[in-house]
Amino acid sequence: MTHPSTGTRVVFLGGLGRSGTTLLERLLGELPGVAPLGEVVHLWARGVLAGEPCGCGEPFPACPFWREVGDRAFGGWSETLATRALALRHRVDRTRRVLRIGHPDLAEYVRTYRRVYDAAAVAAGARVVIDSSKHASLAHCLAAGGAAIHVIHVVRDPRAVAHSWRRTVRRPEDGRPMTRWSPARTALHWTAQNLALDLLARRGAQVTRLRYEDLVTDPRATLTSLAQELGLPAELPFVTGSTARLTMAHTASGNPMRFTVGPLGLALDDSWRSGSRRGLVTALTWPLRSRYGYRGAPA
Ligand SMILES: [Zn+2]
Repeated sequence: MTHPSTGTRVVFLGGLGRSGTTLLERLLGELPGVAPLGEVVHLWARGVLAGEPCGCGEPFPACPFWREVGDRAFGGWSETLATRALALRHRVDRTRRVLRIGHPDLAEYVRTYRRVYDAAAVAAGARVVIDSSKHASLAHCLAAGGAAIHVIHVVRDPRAVAHSWRRTVRRPEDGRPMTRWSPARTALHWTAQNLALDLLARRGAQVTRLRYEDLVTDPRATLTSLAQELGLPAELPFVTGSTARLTMAHTASGNPMRFTVGPLGLALDDSWRSGSRRGLVTALTWPLRSRYGYRGAPA
C-alpha cells in the first residue's frame, strides 16, 4: 500500500456507479491524514479540459489545491498533458483487457497517476490519498504497473443499484441529466465490474470488500473496522448515530454528493423493493449476488 519512493498510500474505491463509493470517500475523507481526491480517472477531461468545478466549488483550474498538485506533479496542468493521459487511457485502461494487461504504454499511464497521488499527498499534508475512480480496469492497471494500492471493493444490492440507474439525476456541474441504464443493462455491468474487482486480489492487490448496506445501517462500526484495516486512526467525531457531518473536500470529479457540506443523514433506501423489473435483475445477477449475501427470490 506504500509507494517506496514517497510513502504515499493509495486507497482505491472500486464498484459500479451508484453503489456508494462517493459516500464512502466523503466519510473516509473526514479521517485525520486522509485526502479524498474524487474520481481521478475523470480529472483529465472534466477538470483540466472542461474546467468543471472541484468539490470546493471553484472551477478546477482556479482551485488552489489542484493548482499546487499540477505544479508539483507536472510543472502545471496543460491540454497536451490531459490529451496524452486520455489517449493512454483509451489504449491501456479497458474493462475487456483486465485479464491480459501488458500494453507498452502501461508504465507511462501508471506513472502519471502516481505523480498525481504523490503530489496530492504533499499538497494536502496527508499520508493517505483516496481515488474513488471506481473502475476495475484502472485498479488492474495500477496493480499491474506496480502501484501498491489498497482497494475497497464496494458492493450494493444490484436491485437497488438498478433502481438508482433508472432515475433521472441532473449533474450539478452543468445541469445535464446523467446517463440512465435499463435494469438489464445495469445487471450486466454490475456483474462485469464486480467480477473484475474480485479478480484484483489475484494480481496481488490488497482488497477489502465492503457492503454499502452495512455502511449506512451502522456507519460507526463499519468505518471503525475499515479504518483499522487501513491502518488509520478510527477517530469518528463526525459520525453521530445515523448522521455524518461533512466538511468541504477538493474532489476533482464524481457524483453530486461530492459537493455536500454539513449534516448528511445515512439511511437504507428501500424504494427499489416496489420498483418494476426487479425480478429480472434478481435473476440476471445470480450467483454473484448470493456470494455477496444479497438474497431474495425474484418478485
Ligand atoms: Zn478545490
